[in-house]
Amino acid sequence: MADRLWVLGSAGWMPSAGNETSCFLVELGDELVMLDAGTGVANLGLASEALKRHDRVHVLLSHYHLDHVVGLMYLKRFFDDKRVDVYGPGIPVYPRSTASYIADLLQDTLYSAGSEGFAREVRFHDYAGQDFRVGDVPVTVRPQQHSAPSFELRLADAVTYATDTSYCPAAWKNPVPTKVLLHECWQQGSGDPRHTSVETLAQDLATDRFERTLLIHHNPAWDEATRAEVARIAKRHGMELARDGMVIDL
Ligand SMILES: [Zn+2]
Ligand SMILES: [Zn+2]
Repeated sequence: MADRLWVLGSAGWMPSAGNETSCFLVELGDELVMLDAGTGVANLGLASEALKRHDRVHVLLSHYHLDHVVGLMYLKRFFDDKRVDVYGPGIPVYPRSTASYIADLLQDTLYSAGSEGFAREVRFHDYAGQDFRVGDVPVTVRPQQHSAPSFELRLADAVTYATDTSYCPAAWKNPVPTKVLLHECWQQGSGDPRHTSVETLAQDLATDRFERTLLIHHNPAWDEATRAEVARIAKRHGMELARDGMVIDL
């Protein structure tokens, strides 16, 4: 099968404008990788053929903010018969392990299946501080600036995922090319220093290093005019606003 990316959740914070929160599915050879598990997990049915091809799924979390993890409790609908490995930035960057944060989130008072009940077999791993592999796929990890530690994740030469971060010009001076860059775009104009604006990306990002640059983690507070303006600025600079349901061959 061709390698492929599904945009399942392209909004930040809360679902908005028909888009769910952060979740992307990537099929690379024998591996199926999910980037974050926001409400976009609810769109996994869009990739049902890919789900049939894989017994094992790797779920990579950029950080633990709820718009990136709340969909873990929806996974049972899609992953009930699968083995799931969840990788999060636990110890040493956070004081506790990935397993313990997810156990808090999916405690049985709040979610009856419990933190290991959303798949046939669930295992948790802490990745912070080092690159790692999921099956055949090398994952490159880079720390970002955000209100809590968050990490850029790069999957081989296929996808770079940079969400929930302020834009760091030094880090993007000479980016490693990948087919697709998913970069957050939370605002138009300056504002929140924990996030990135479309103007900054338009000014500084070397979009020619990527076949496609998709702007993700949109702000649900955007009105239609702002959304249209962001899309216009993005297009002029070789970028595009992601939307749920996009499928991209890698
Ligand atoms: Zn977020
Ligand atoms: Zn965040």
